Amino acid sequence: MLARPGPDAGEVAWDNYLHLRDNPAGVTEELWQHDGGCGSWLVVTRDTVSHVISKVEMAADVKRAMQAAS
Ligand SMILES: [Zn+2]
Repeated sequence: MLARPGPDAGEVAWDNYLHLRDNPAGVTEELWQHDGGCGSWLVVTRDTVSHVISKVEMAADVKRAMQAAS
């Protein structure tokens, strides 16, 4: 999860926030939008090495489940 730096954070903190991302090799969860379709947001579980997609869930359903669990 990205943590937005405070307004007075230095250049390095803002550079990291804006430009640097983890690039994991293996199974990861990604947020995709059905742009050009219904516009829904999806949580896609994908292996970044093989590109095999093992699970797709509606992001709204995942969010509801997270809120119910907390
Ligand atoms: Zn759709």
